[in-house]
Amino acid sequence: MRRLSLLSLFLALVLLAAMLVACSEEDKPTATSKPPVPEESVPDDESPSAAPVDEIVRPPSPTPEAGDPFAAIRAEMVQTGIIDWGVEDETVIAAMLAVPRHEFVPEEYQAQAYENHPLPIGFGQTISQPYIVAKMTEAIDVEPGDKVLEIGTGSGYQAAVLAEVVDHVYTVEIIGDLLEIARQSHERAGYDNITSRHADGYFGWEEEAPFDAIIVTAAPDHVPIPLVQQLKIGGRMIIPVGPVGGFQRLWLVTRVSEDEVRTNDLGGVTFVPLTRDAR
Ligand code: SAH
Repeated sequence: MRRLSLLSLFLALVLLAAMLVACSEEDKPTATSKPPVPEESVPDDESPSAAPVDEIVRPPSPTPEAGDPFAAIRAEMVQTGIIDWGVEDETVIAAMLAVPRHEFVPEEYQAQAYENHPLPIGFGQTISQPYIVAKMTEAIDVEPGDKVLEIGTGSGYQAAVLAEVVDHVYTVEIIGDLLEIARQSHERAGYDNITSRHADGYFGWEEEAPFDAIIVTAAPDHVPIPLVQQLKIGGRMIIPVGPVGGFQRLWLVTRVSEDEVRTNDLGGVTFVPLTRDAR
């Protein structure tokens, strides 16, 4: 009996000691314990979710602009320089939001890529002002199935905007080295629906004609007849026309029948001249 009591006392003491140890373990800060963290705080290095949250929870985005650090500034430029200036076509606005203009300017001008003005692209040429690109794209009123020709590839930016709207774009550039750079930009930005050619665009692209629409982004001093002839009946061409070194007017030329066009003056512009010497 006495033996039993001693044993019980011993067991009770062991139990008490065990309980004290358990309590103190609970209260004591340990090497792995952390203060409570708000949900949005950055996980620490030891946490299993220490890898970037984006990588774990977000599915890969199919859009080329995923993770694009310029997306916000581009959206601001589209609002203030395009929508606020009167461009209404939703598809054109979506295209302007999608195309990474910074991929189409020389590196030293990347910081200015989303300012609403033209920029030098080398060889004495310029990438057009975003507003003008949007306005010209809206003016030719294209839809997905349309076949579109651009004269004056330049940086390749206008072709990329068109490639967001229609299934396939054809573009002609007279400076071979510039065309090579534009092709690389298209590849980098993921456009595989643009076919380009090194030639004098005055003659259009006869083998691919007729076109639903033609955009001319260098200014001749008259409307080239081959371009009108390569428009479908009902097709639209937008073209700056004016004297070399002077101001031009932007014309919307609609081919209304086999031998008739209708013209609309869309205002004054300044483009580089349409030259005739292939380089
Ligand atoms: N659309 C371009 C800007 C064009 S600048 C862009 O989005 O960046 C005008 C371009 O037209 C220049 O690259 C110039 O070399 C080209 N060009 C001038 N005359 C041409 C011609 N006869 N045929 C084809 N391209 C021409």
